[in-house]
Order: sequence, then C-alpha cells, then structure tokens
Amino acid sequence: MMNLQEALDLWQYGHQPTDTSKLPTDIQARLETAPEHARAAVARVTSEDANRALPLLANAAASSTSGKRVFWLHKAAQSLADTYGTHSACRPGCSHCCHIPVKITQAEAIYIGRQIGRRPRAAKHLGPPPSIVGYESPCPFLASDSCSIYEWRPMVCRSHLNFDQDDLLCRLLPGMSVPVPYLDTRLLVLAAIDILGQTQPIADIRQWFGDVGSEQHDRPSTGRTSLHKQLRGNE
Ligand code: SF4
Repeated sequence: MMNLQEALDLWQYGHQPTDTSKLPTDIQARLETAPEHARAAVARVTSEDANRALPLLANAAASSTSGKRVFWLHKAAQSLADTYGTHSACRPGCSHCCHIPVKITQAEAIYIGRQIGRRPRAAKHLGPPPSIVGYESPCPFLASDSCSIYEWRPMVCRSHLNFDQDDLLCRLLPGMSVPVPYLDTRLLVLAAIDILGQTQPIADIRQWFGDVGSEQHDRPSTGRTSLHKQLRGNE
C-alpha cells in the first residue's frame, strides 16, 4: 500500500527510478549536484510570478462542467510552465517526458479526446497500466520526436520541467529510469484531484489512447469539438 507522498511522487515523477549505483558514472556524479542547482534555479522565480497560476485554479474550481475545469487547469499548468520554463533545462526537441508514465484523469482524457477528435477508452476497458521502464514505450501522441497534440497536451506534460543545468539526466538510457529534478508540482496535482473529484479514474495516457486491445477507439463522426462549444458547457 502506498502512502499519499508516494502516490503523489509516482504521479509527478511517473516511475520508480533505477538504483543510482547502477547508473553511468557521469549520471551518478550529476545526481550529486542536481538538487542544489535545481533549488537555486527555482529560487529565481518570484512568488508574485508563481502566484499567477492561483486565479486560474480558482476559475477551475468555480467552473460548472468538467470540460471547463480541465480547460482552466491546463491554463494554470501553462502559467507555471511559462513562469518557470525559462529557468529550466527544457528545450524544443527533447522528448524525455514523452517516454515516462503520463497520468491523467478521465475528465482530462475526455477533454483532450474532444479537442483532437479521438475518443478515449471507457474506464472499464483500460486494462492494467503499461510497463514503462527504460523509456521503451513512448506516448502514442509522440510523432517524429514532437507532440502531435501540443495545443491540447495534458497538464502534467505542461508542468514537467527539468531544473538541472542541461539535459544530461533526460537522455534516454535503455532499461534505466533516471531521477530528474523536476519542478515540484504536487500542489497542482492535489488541486486538480480536488477540483475534478477524488473518485475520478486516473490512468496512463497510453491506457486511455494507446492502441492495445481497445474496441473503444473510434473517431467520433463529429470530428473536433471547438473550444468555444466546450466552454459553452458541452459536457
Ligand atoms: S501528450 Fe504530447 S507532450 Fe505529453 S507525453 Fe504525449 S507526446 Fe509528449
């Protein structure tokens, strides 16, 4: 049985890292300095800038439909990404985060599905979580090392920011999972769970949208639902 801390860590970081003594020596050396570098980088962000996400979370909490709540949660996560991103090591072309677990709620899966015209599996057809050790199972939306649904990518994808000095810890090592000093967004995760409802099914994006064994994967004939329509209350 996991405690709350372990569950939040698993949501945010996505995987249990490999025993560090088994990692390459340059990675082991970097892991010695990465926490201090990350703390210094995060400290460059003022609380005023960080707090720009708060009214967006308030909008999410005050919204009347799950689609609107997810819309505002995405805005809040994007606000954090915009604020912290310039101080992180993340750069275009890196797809590390697309090779680790990507946990999303059913409400978010439905919201994304509506925007991209692709229905997620029903919760009862999800099956067990995929085994994602060693980065061998990329997100189904990763295409040519780019996100094919970038505008609609999940909350966790927006807020996964590496606060090390460069991408060394994000390089994909076959068979290994390296601990990356991500921005700590566990409060955002808790807020999302609270706002969307604690009984929401939560699963990996591969379970909601992957190709394995689903009969629930048809494209709706109506195609993409406009954001305008969604915001008018199209549940
Ligand atoms: S949704 Fe996009 S950004 Fe998120 S893991 Fe998949 S490909 Fe990467």
